[in-house]
Amino acid sequence: MSLQTSKHDVVIIGAGIIGLTIARQLLLRSNLSVVVVDAHRPCYGATGAGQGYVWMSYRTPGSDTWELAGRSKQLWEELADEVRAQGSDPLDVLGWKRTGSILVGRTATEAASLLERVKLLKNAGVRAEYLTTMELKFREPSLEVGEEGGAALVPDDCQIDARRTVDFILKCNRCYVSQGRYAEFFDEPAISLSSSKKGEEDKDAVKTSQRFLCYKKAVVIAAGAWSGSLLKGLVQEPDLMPEIPVMPRKGHLLILKNPETNIIQVNHGLMEVGYIDSEASHSPEVGAEDMENLPSISMAVTKDVNGSLVIGSSREFSGFSREVDENVVKDMMARAGEFFPALRDLPCGLNQFKEIRVGHRPYVLDDKPVIGRLPCLPKVLLATGHEGNGLCLALGTAEMVVDLIEGRPTKVESKPFSVQGRFKIS
Ligand SMILES: Cc1cc2nc3c(=O)[nH]c(=O)nc-3n(C[C@H](O)[C@H](O)[C@H](O)COP(=O)(O)OP(=O)(O)OC[C@H]3O[C@@H](n4cnc5c(N)ncnc54)[C@H](O)[C@@H]3O)c2cc1C
Repeated sequence: MSLQTSKHDVVIIGAGIIGLTIARQLLLRSNLSVVVVDAHRPCYGATGAGQGYVWMSYRTPGSDTWELAGRSKQLWEELADEVRAQGSDPLDVLGWKRTGSILVGRTATEAASLLERVKLLKNAGVRAEYLTTMELKFREPSLEVGEEGGAALVPDDCQIDARRTVDFILKCNRCYVSQGRYAEFFDEPAISLSSSKKGEEDKDAVKTSQRFLCYKKAVVIAAGAWSGSLLKGLVQEPDLMPEIPVMPRKGHLLILKNPETNIIQVNHGLMEVGYIDSEASHSPEVGAEDMENLPSISMAVTKDVNGSLVIGSSREFSGFSREVDENVVKDMMARAGEFFPALRDLPCGLNQFKEIRVGHRPYVLDDKPVIGRLPCLPKVLLATGHEGNGLCLALGTAEMVVDLIEGRPTKVESKPFSVQGRFKIS
């Protein structure tokens, strides 16, 4: 079969939230033409399983991702405003809700750390409030944290519905098809990549199972947890290629049916403070459970756009299996039951749920995204490694990638995320 050839300024590999928002940003903020290619369909990857928290509460002021998260959250707010200005409800279109977030702790140590966190957040300009157990009871009557516990409330934290948001972005991107600036090819894996060092036209191309996608300006690898292995297979001349180990970190998300959903009242987005350690754990010393392939589970509970109770989440390194693990589901329900006594007696057979989602977070050992050019192939950019933060960080990442492609100064310092100097050359 002879392969078709098409020409574009930018080829994006991966139609998850990262690839699609980069396409959107290119269409809105440049004159470049874009094609997005995906091995499956949008939302096949981590994006389709994401809980949707767009939160500042569990981030640390001054850390590498702090500024990027702040900028990204601002861009989400602006997008919600734009949708409103166009006469639509951002709740319908994006699942956008300003739920506020509450981080909860059950021990005196956790309560003290939350008090400290509130101070740090306030000093960094984020509205935050420490809640005693009594105050927490008033705001979240179904939640039990015990006498010694406490909580941190960030009232401006929000959430999106990843699937609705992806539908919206796809719709916006497709408005550019008629101008010849946008194309998408799904169920079509990228197989190899050629990038001429001298910039010869037609030599720079991504080969998919069906066609050659020639690119003039850039190719962006935004293939989530597949990005590391994909990069290895894609590039035919691996000399000077850094090894970028992006690992799939599997997670489950449970969506309860009615009437179980109404057993408890949930007024905010909720998360146990231990989640922060679970997300950051990355070495056998810190994250023994995780690394030994035992799932780590922390309570993260919210209501989605339909009012269904959503219970997260698990983390484990077990390859790309998409199987729902019944034991993990039971453990997640048990963990949620430690905070919500009313959930303890619910049956948790797999058919009790409205839906169980599984996704693979793209995890990089130093726990921050990789956003930037490959030093050995400067037309090739990476945008991956967002682990449990890709929904929140998507718009800031997209803005950064497009500024890098266009040679403009980035709004947020891009150096902490760059490839250069961060990874071993193989
Ligand atoms: C249970 C769970 C809860 C989460 N909760 C949150 C949250 O509350 N807030 C938050 O910010 N983040 C959350 N996340 C993380 C977030 O979902 C991810 O960080 C984000 O979706 C990553 O997006 P991505 O586009 O990089 O990757 P993906 O969404 O995984 O997309 C990658 C795409 O690349 C495609 N691909 C792979 N190989 C190829 C190939 N050879 N050719 C072409 N395409 C290819 C795949 O098919 C896939 O569609 C959660 C994740 C999970 C699993």
